[in-house]
Amino acid sequence: MKIALFDDWRLGRVEGDTLVDLTDALEWSTDHPQQSLPRVLADPRALDAVEGPERALADVRLRPPLPRPPKVVGAPVNYPLHQEEMALATTIWDHGMFLKSPSSVIGPSDEIVLPFADRSTHHEGELGVIIGRPAYRIQPEDALDVVAAYTCLLDITVRGDEERSWRKSMRTFTPIGPWLVTADEIPDPGALTLRCRVNGETRQDAATADMFCDVETLVAYTSWAYPLEPGDLIATGTPDGVGPITPGDRVEVEISGIGTLAVSVSRQTGPAFADWEYHPARRAASCARS
Ligand code: MN
Repeated sequence: MKIALFDDWRLGRVEGDTLVDLTDALEWSTDHPQQSLPRVLADPRALDAVEGPERALADVRLRPPLPRPPKVVGAPVNYPLHQEEMALATTIWDHGMFLKSPSSVIGPSDEIVLPFADRSTHHEGELGVIIGRPAYRIQPEDALDVVAAYTCLLDITVRGDEERSWRKSMRTFTPIGPWLVTADEIPDPGALTLRCRVNGETRQDAATADMFCDVETLVAYTSWAYPLEPGDLIATGTPDGVGPITPGDRVEVEISGIGTLAVSVSRQTGPAFADWEYHPARRAASCARS
């Protein structure tokens, strides 16, 4: 089942080009959509028979299907060809996981905003995994039991030497959507294809089978460090083909069995890095000890 949030955080089931509005049929709180989601995800089949008013998908404003996940966990260097293109000797097993700010999440109707006009900022198309049940230090063979759903995700990244979490947590830096696909529709998350296009040109084209750390192991590995909670989101890492995005671009991530997330890059950007009030060279003097 495809579950979408739309307009003023209403809940819908996607059926082709149609969206069935389930908001009034269920005890769904448009004031607290993130808190209402775990109950829905715990038993998605209960939604199968629920009816509601139908809307054309094209007529609604799709929101991020997780408005504010408790945490967003990222997987660094999880595909061999991405490791190669970044000229790294290390993999996810050397780095562990990193955290992205939940406030970086946006949906298909929002825009990515580049924080600096002149810093190279890349698209990283990724499979997003949504946790449905609490989990701490679980084994890989039990991991898919705690996965509730999947979605398309962009791990937008300023390239550079700052901390990963700083470069990847900027406002608008985690587009997700266009909806959640419940886990029953994706029996093997290691058998998906992922493509990322910029302005129609294919930049990334890969198979989730190529991950160093597959989804089952990734959920278990993450749960060893961070207790997982319902609604948590794991970005499973990007394949090769990452590259810069620029103002006005249209970025798409298409994953088999899920759909296509399309977002635009705003024509407005932040300042040039050299002009930034917190540029390190401008601040170094004030931090120097006498
Ligand atoms: Mn990434």
